[in-house]
Amino acid sequence: MSSAGSIEQTFVQLADGIQRLTLPLPTGPKHVHCYLAHGTLFDTGLGLGDAPWDSVDAERIAITHFHPDHVGGAQSAAEATAAPVFQGGLDYAQCERVWGSDDWPERMAAWFVRHGVPADVTEDLIVQGHAFASFIRYAIDPDLLYEGSEVGGWQVLELPGHADGHLGFLRDGVLVGGDHLLRRITPAVGLYPESRPDPLGDYLASLERTIELAPRVVYPGHGEPIDDAPNRARELIEHHRIRLDDHAAALAAEPRTAYEISLDVFGRELTPTQRRFAVAETLSHLERLVREGRAARFGDDNLVSYTSP
Ligand SMILES: [Zn+2]
Repeated sequence: MSSAGSIEQTFVQLADGIQRLTLPLPTGPKHVHCYLAHGTLFDTGLGLGDAPWDSVDAERIAITHFHPDHVGGAQSAAEATAAPVFQGGLDYAQCERVWGSDDWPERMAAWFVRHGVPADVTEDLIVQGHAFASFIRYAIDPDLLYEGSEVGGWQVLELPGHADGHLGFLRDGVLVGGDHLLRRITPAVGLYPESRPDPLGDYLASLERTIELAPRVVYPGHGEPIDDAPNRARELIEHHRIRLDDHAAALAAEPRTAYEISLDVFGRELTPTQRRFAVAETLSHLERLVREGRAARFGDDNLVSYTSP
């Protein structure tokens, strides 16, 4: 359902000619922001069917990354506005692989088992994964964007880390940043199957790039605008430096799986969903440590483990 009344309640006029639409999320930060600026609608929420797309005057839709709370409403938004959808080339490939294939939860579960995750946690993933996927209505065959592309006067930046194909959109010192940079939340950086091999290395490089770019303001997917982006980027680099040390301290001469190490680093009291995020985050840190010569990886198709070097 949508109406002009509801859109006035949900679109907020910010500075820089930007309007912000905040949509509810059932979990996590409980909300996600979409932005409308210079004719471009950035991101589309989870796709729960409650967004006021009929009233949105968008010439085009651009997606920062394929996570469900950003891409899930893309098809509905495109149908309601008749606007073309733009999405990153790598990001769309991953979007199709995750949301468009029947056996992705099983493939992901098998991969978690190789990293020592117990069956009850991976069985929950299979149930949740299939239940969730039916809600995610991404737009089929979008126009693909890459580093150096331009869309609606916005310069396209590839900012990998939180997602391999994460894009930012820059115009006049304004960065629409998705989940690359958040003000209070530390963006999740996890390793997942069939993905780039060193997402934390990617993320640290994207943060360094953000310091150099020094955008005047970042409009993020969650939380308030960030007007000190270089400082926030430095904080996040420091956060991960400490987390890398925590992971290095959990290594021993005896092989340990990422699951076992995640029990040390993230504690034992997590729900199955939280545990999967924790193991993915542990793996992104372990793989960075391997590349820095501070950890060694062993294993095969059955079980992967890590030791001190
Ligand atoms: Zn995300």
